[in-house]
Amino acid sequence: MSVIEVKGLTKSYGKTRALCGIDLSVKQGEIHGFIGMNGAGKTTAIRILLGLLRKDGGEVNLLGGDPFRDCVELHKRIAYVPSEINPWANLTGGEVIDLLSRLRGKPDAKRRAEMIDRFQFDPRKKCRGYSKGNRQKVVLIAALISDAELYILDEPTSGLDPLMETVFQDCVRELAAQGKTIFLSSHILAEVEKLCDRVTIIKEGQIVETGSLREMKQLSRSIVHAECVKPVKGINGVYGFQCDGNKVSFSVDPSSLNAAIKELTEYEMVSLHCAPPELEDLFLHYYSGSGESAGGKPGSDKPKSGAPKSGEPGSIEHRSGESGGGESRNGESVGGKPRGEAR
Ligand code: ATP
Repeated sequence: MSVIEVKGLTKSYGKTRALCGIDLSVKQGEIHGFIGMNGAGKTTAIRILLGLLRKDGGEVNLLGGDPFRDCVELHKRIAYVPSEINPWANLTGGEVIDLLSRLRGKPDAKRRAEMIDRFQFDPRKKCRGYSKGNRQKVVLIAALISDAELYILDEPTSGLDPLMETVFQDCVRELAAQGKTIFLSSHILAEVEKLCDRVTIIKEGQIVETGSLREMKQLSRSIVHAECVKPVKGINGVYGFQCDGNKVSFSVDPSSLNAAIKELTEYEMVSLHCAPPELEDLFLHYYSGSGESAGGKPGSDKPKSGAPKSGEPGSIEHRSGESGGGESRNGESVGGKPRGEAR
C-alpha cells in the first residue's frame, strides 16, 4: 500500500521552478531516503506533502487524503521534524515535547521517559539554553514518541553527535519494524545508506533516480583498486582509470568486470579491492552534469582512461536558480523555514 503517491507535482516561486513535475511513491513500512543538493527542491516537496504549501499542478496523495484539503485530519497521523528548529525560548524542553506530542493524542509517558533517556536529554532546561543538538533532540523526541503512521523527517540529525545519530537510527529501524513509514530527507549520505530501503534522488526540481539501493548498486559500475608488481599502463573497457606508481583505480561495468580483472592479473596483482559504489558515488555521479541517469549504469557512456572529468564520478557541477516570491499556508509549529522566505 502506498503511503505517499505523487504524480507530476509542480511548484514555482515566482520565476524559480522548484519542482518540475516530480513522481514519488513510498510504500507502507518503508524507510525512504529523499536526497539532493541544496536548492534541489526537497523542502518544497516536503512542505507540499505536509499541506503547508499549495502545489501548482500534479497529484499528491498522502495516507489516502489530499495534504492541503485534509490537512487537519492527516496531521493526526503524521509526525514531522523540520530542518530548522527553533523551539519556544521560554518553555522547557520537556514542555515543548509534551506540547508537540499532544497534538497527536495523549503521549505515552513510558515511551517519553524511554526516549529522553536514550537521547540523554535533560528536559528541565529552558529551550533558549539548549545547544543546537539539544534543540534538535526536543523535536526529534516529540516526533519519535508520537504514535504516527508516517514520519516525515527533514534533516533530522543535523547537530547531533555520532552517538546520538546511532540512537536515532535504532529508533527509526524500530519504527519501520512496527510497520510505520519513514520519509527521510538528509544530506548525510552514510545515514541514508545505512537506513533506507529505497532512495529518491532529486536534482533541480526533477527526480533523477528512484529505487532500491541494492538495485541501484547492482546496475552500477564497481570501483576497483589494485596494486601490481608491473606498472599498469591502462585497462580496456574501464572508466576513470588512474595510476599512482603501481597502484591503479578505475570503475567498470558489471559486464566488463571479469575481463578487467583478468587483464590486471597480467601485471602480477598483489592486492585487489573491488566494491559496488557507495551511495555517495552514485549521488555525485547524478550531480556530475552528465545528464545520464545513473552513476555509471552499464552502457551509459563510453569507457575512458585518465582522471575523472565532468560527467564521471568524482566531479560535481551544481546550479540552482534563486528568486523570491512563493506562498505557504502556515508557519510551522516549531522552527521550519520562515513563511514566504526568499532565499
Ligand atoms: P536545502 O537542502 O538547501 O534545504 P532544498 O532541496 O530543500 O534545499 P528548496 O528549499 O525546496 O530546496 O528550494 C528549491 C528552490 O526553490 C531553490 O531554488 C530555492 O531557492 C527556491 N525557494 C525555496 N523556497 C522559496 C521561497 N519561499 N521563495 C522563493 N524561492 C524559494
